[in-house]
Amino acid sequence: METISLPIHTEPRHWEVLVVGGGTAGAMAAISAARAGARTLVVEALGALGGTGTNAQVTPLMRNVSGGVNLNQGLTNQLKRRLREREDGAIDPGGNDNWFNPEGMKYVLEQMLLEAGGEVLYHTHFVAPELEGQRVRAIVVHNKNGLVRLQAHTFIDATGDADLAVRAGAPFQAGDETGLHQALSLRFLLGGVDTERLSAFLRRWGQPQGSPQFMHFWMVWDKGSSLEPLFRQGVAEGLLWERDGDYFQGFSVPGMPGVISFNCPRLAAELNDGAEAWTLSRAQVDGRAAIERLIRFLQKYFEGCERSFLASYAPMVGVRETRRIVGEYLLSLEDILYCRTFPDAICRNHYPVDIHTPRGQKLLHERSGNLPYFAPDAYHEIPYRSLIPLGLSNVLVPGRCASATFEAQSAIRVQQNCHSMGEAAGLAAAWCAQEGLEVRGVDGVKLRGALRALGAYL
Ligand SMILES: Cc1cc2nc3c(=O)[nH]c(=O)nc-3n(C[C@H](O)[C@H](O)[C@H](O)COP(=O)(O)OP(=O)(O)OC[C@H]3O[C@@H](n4cnc5c(N)ncnc54)[C@H](O)[C@@H]3O)c2cc1C
Repeated sequence: METISLPIHTEPRHWEVLVVGGGTAGAMAAISAARAGARTLVVEALGALGGTGTNAQVTPLMRNVSGGVNLNQGLTNQLKRRLREREDGAIDPGGNDNWFNPEGMKYVLEQMLLEAGGEVLYHTHFVAPELEGQRVRAIVVHNKNGLVRLQAHTFIDATGDADLAVRAGAPFQAGDETGLHQALSLRFLLGGVDTERLSAFLRRWGQPQGSPQFMHFWMVWDKGSSLEPLFRQGVAEGLLWERDGDYFQGFSVPGMPGVISFNCPRLAAELNDGAEAWTLSRAQVDGRAAIERLIRFLQKYFEGCERSFLASYAPMVGVRETRRIVGEYLLSLEDILYCRTFPDAICRNHYPVDIHTPRGQKLLHERSGNLPYFAPDAYHEIPYRSLIPLGLSNVLVPGRCASATFEAQSAIRVQQNCHSMGEAAGLAAAWCAQEGLEVRGVDGVKLRGALRALGAYL
């Protein structure tokens, strides 16, 4: 690899907490750090907060309930309340805890950050860390101003891919034991849907809906979906490709009447590594072509969709799993299935192991059995130590790239858990800056107590 030298402009300001990646975990981390009184900056590659939730249009917060109690509270509750006040959020009577409008979510997160005194720098990519031993002294980013050096006391890597931690030398794992990642998807919004008629049609086809405002329908080959014959016809007619039926799912979007958010298409199996630039680019192209096929199929076969139109492609490819740091604690499948708890817990989870593998691979979706985890009031915990990458003294890594095995990550990766991990990382990072601590110096039991005092269910 060649090295080149380019001018780097040093930003004169110095932050206490710098969050790289303003996504699901990062936005909450920044809000949490700023509320704790730390001078906080969040650097984000795109032009809005919320990451996979907003820019990849993953519009339902997946239900994470145990014994009738939602396990993620604290900042997540405040976020939900703000969304519902604006009619950008809603509770589905039959299932998911919160469905949201991705555009509303962008606004609410941004307002919560600014109200807390935090700052954001959009359209800015992390490039490289500058190290002093195990300490990240600064990061170099790239944006319209060129290469810029940003300095802070403590860094939170919420890039979803552990970009900062890995480039700073932290050990990591990626994919399953063969290196295969979970499948990528490109989501899209379909507008102009007559949801009354679509709802009646789905009822006739064996998928009755709660109401035309709360629709959820699906088809996956060989999983017993009543819609499968329609998809078979679509393939026979050449409107669809076989793989377009690997995963198909639609949801209503609060505050967007006549719009359905699709959790598909799943992308070509060979497009597997969401942390690889060429793959990501090809995934966007592959996804757009598949969306074109799906829309033509929906217009022809689904009543109520005849006059529908593409409202938007998700700006970000939906990436479920890439690099995961190896941290002070590596959360495992056993921890989940045997409901392990920890004194330094920062989050509780009851979402199951949920692995979307490219077609032809085993799909492990553990929802029932005799193990302790399958009791309706069961949960396991995630320790603060799972956010601390080995070998670095002032970096925390919340979100889907926290320290967990492939199977364990598939359970903890859902959005509300990313919120809770982000909230904990933000508070811990603020303490580090204010008390001159390294991340390992934070008392995890005290952190848990402080999160509880802020409303966490811990
Ligand atoms: C298709 C799909 C469907 C899903 N369905 C659900 C669901 O129904 N419910 C649910 O709760 N969860 C669901 N999930 C899981 C969940 O959405 C994600 O695991 C979670 O949002 C990840 O959060 P994160 O903060 O780790 O990463 P992200 O939210 O992706 O945040 C990472 C942020 O970092 C930014 N970034 C990345 N690299 C850089 C860089 N180098 N420089 C600057 N910024 C950078 C990105 O732009 C992004 O904003 C789904 C995921 C996918 C992909």
